[in-house]
Amino acid sequence: MSDRKRVLILGGTGDATALATRTTEIAGVEVITSLAGRTRQPTVASKNTRIGGFGGVAGLTDYLRDQKIDVLIDATHPFAAQISFHAAAAAAAVGIPHLMLIRPAWERTEGDRWIEVDSHEAAATVLPGIAQRIFLTIGRQELATFAHLQDLWFLMRMIDPPLPNVAVPPGKLLLKRGPFSLNNERSLLQQYEIGAIVSKNSGGDATYAKMIAARELGIPVIMIQRPPIPPGDIVADIDSALAWLLTGD
Ligand code: NAP
Repeated sequence: MSDRKRVLILGGTGDATALATRTTEIAGVEVITSLAGRTRQPTVASKNTRIGGFGGVAGLTDYLRDQKIDVLIDATHPFAAQISFHAAAAAAAVGIPHLMLIRPAWERTEGDRWIEVDSHEAAATVLPGIAQRIFLTIGRQELATFAHLQDLWFLMRMIDPPLPNVAVPPGKLLLKRGPFSLNNERSLLQQYEIGAIVSKNSGGDATYAKMIAARELGIPVIMIQRPPIPPGDIVADIDSALAWLLTGD
């Protein structure tokens, strides 16, 4: 019988990987990281990693019970809304503490030419009136939303190639994993004569350089706003998550 505290971290972000590494160092705590399995070669933090969906709220609730999870930390991407609502519901059903680690959204600063929209669909609707050559930095999951824009040209950056049978807009694929430097982003925008960027408001440093480059070059950014999050405890950084873990329950 182990009296170690079992912590499940829902991952898929750099913050989750870093949090798992630091949590593993705490005496008396056992960490399991969960990934959806979207990237082919994920950056894995702990040896104790499970991959794949749970099967909705019911599946996650069963998992928490079966695995005797004591604490659930949701460190998923701010746009991974479904799993966050599932996590809140499952933790409540089992009656265990639940925390969301959500890095702050980027904020518009002087010189930014942001056009804020609520969805990928809304971004696709406004694009034709704004520019002809677009830097599409939204990953691969929502590419099809832009596929009907056949008169535009897209530079599309993502970690893994689009899944087979997914409609892709016209343009060029760039398969790269961040972080990206300001020099890199500035050269990309200039080399491909980009007239607008489409980005989610993901927050964090790893992909922020494109915002600085856009500001410098006066390029508009179609900024997709974050989806709603469930109620619950929230922290903005890893240190605060660790403090919550040590004192919170
Ligand atoms: P989502 O729409 O919220 O989730 C869809 C389904 O994927 C969930 O219902 C769940 O399946 C499964 N899932 C998601 N995250 C999981 C996790 N950490 N462990 C186990 N199952 C998980 O999420 P998504 O937008 O597809 O994102 C999937 C993963 O990629 C997330 O872990 C997220 O952190 C990461 N990611 C997402 C984005 C983005 O922009 N959306 C960007 C970077 C990284 P079941 O219902 O079967 O449990």
